[in-house]
Amino acid sequence: MKVNSIFFLILTLCLSVIFGCNSLKKVDFKNPVDTTTKQIKLQTKQTYHLKGVNVFASNEYDGARLNGFKRSNDSTATVIISPENGPINNSAYYSFKTWSNTPKPFYFTFQYPKGYKHRYVPKLKINDKWSVIDDAQIIKTDSIVTIKLNLTRTPIIVSGQELQTSTDVKQWYSNVLSGKENFVRLKNIGKSKLGRDLPVLDIYKGNKKEKPIVVLLTRQHPPEVTGFFAFKEFLKTVISDSGLSDRFLSKYRVLAFPIMNPDGVDLGHWRHNAGGVDTNRDWSKYHQPEVKQVVTYITQAGKKDKARIILGIDFHSTYEDVFYTNKIRKETTLPNFIEEWFTALEANIPNYKVNEAAGNSNSPVSKGWFLYGQKATGITYEIGDATPRDKIKLIGKVTAEQMMNILLKTKTNY
Ligand SMILES: [Zn+2]
Repeated sequence: MKVNSIFFLILTLCLSVIFGCNSLKKVDFKNPVDTTTKQIKLQTKQTYHLKGVNVFASNEYDGARLNGFKRSNDSTATVIISPENGPINNSAYYSFKTWSNTPKPFYFTFQYPKGYKHRYVPKLKINDKWSVIDDAQIIKTDSIVTIKLNLTRTPIIVSGQELQTSTDVKQWYSNVLSGKENFVRLKNIGKSKLGRDLPVLDIYKGNKKEKPIVVLLTRQHPPEVTGFFAFKEFLKTVISDSGLSDRFLSKYRVLAFPIMNPDGVDLGHWRHNAGGVDTNRDWSKYHQPEVKQVVTYITQAGKKDKARIILGIDFHSTYEDVFYTNKIRKETTLPNFIEEWFTALEANIPNYKVNEAAGNSNSPVSKGWFLYGQKATGITYEIGDATPRDKIKLIGKVTAEQMMNILLKTKTNY
């Protein structure tokens, strides 16, 4: 064989590896973000003992975040919290367990690195029950937050949001799909960077061929559990025993990803995955294994079954309830969906006003991937950090019912 032909053969092989069966269509965005793997700093897992005052604090459980614990004086400890890496947005998440051998009131002052401040109102888990800390237990001096707890031998978990670890999530979906295995198919599509399961619930009734696909995502950002609470209620409604659900799932297929970033969740991260990256900026080149495998599953489901991906909803949390939408709608598979959905929500949730922020997805976020990559409707569904949990349930339920109603009425020409 001539040198030239060997070169050509190698080139062909290389190209087929790059563009061949494993090829995933990359999506370009106006403002690219470098999502190659970055270093993260792990917490030292330990139980701290403040001698003299006999107070303990521990981060030895999944979802904990406690980077240091020091005695400030006889009645106060400093709780040192830092993120997994930076730069990172201000999702100053914390979670620790504390107790004392001698019952006493004790104060805890939160300390974050420069540039970050307290965000989450503490949730307390006492005797297996979560509650929001009482206002009277919080002391604010400028932006420094101190809380007062009555310590006993029974540990109290103090957490930015209620813990929803990968184990909790698994327990939840195992329960909710129990008895519905004939139409809710649980699969593990692969592993996270550190080897945790990446589950999907693949939901439809009858034949999946050419059934339009709705994608539901959540927990890209670990502390955003209020978005996850809405996701839970939404999913529960989609797979309920109602006639609406039955008709919907006979016509549509739902791919629901209940935990996109299990490493970040269990490591108590503020925002990133174990690759030190915001996965919701990786929907362009898929450098991170979690996004890459989810995108592969979604696109292959579409290709194999000749089905269009028509709608993607990504559940998050922020300071308030808000729907981030794309301004571009005409060319999508569901040009009128957003308007009809919001009108229906206001008509069906008492005293509810939709808060919409429409933008063009300039950064590589999932809602932009649905738009530019699939010509589908993409929505970032945000629930406020402090939205009452009962209200989240109602919003989660009605948003699902109205989505199903509208899609059943929509003429399918995709
Ligand atoms: Zn988020």
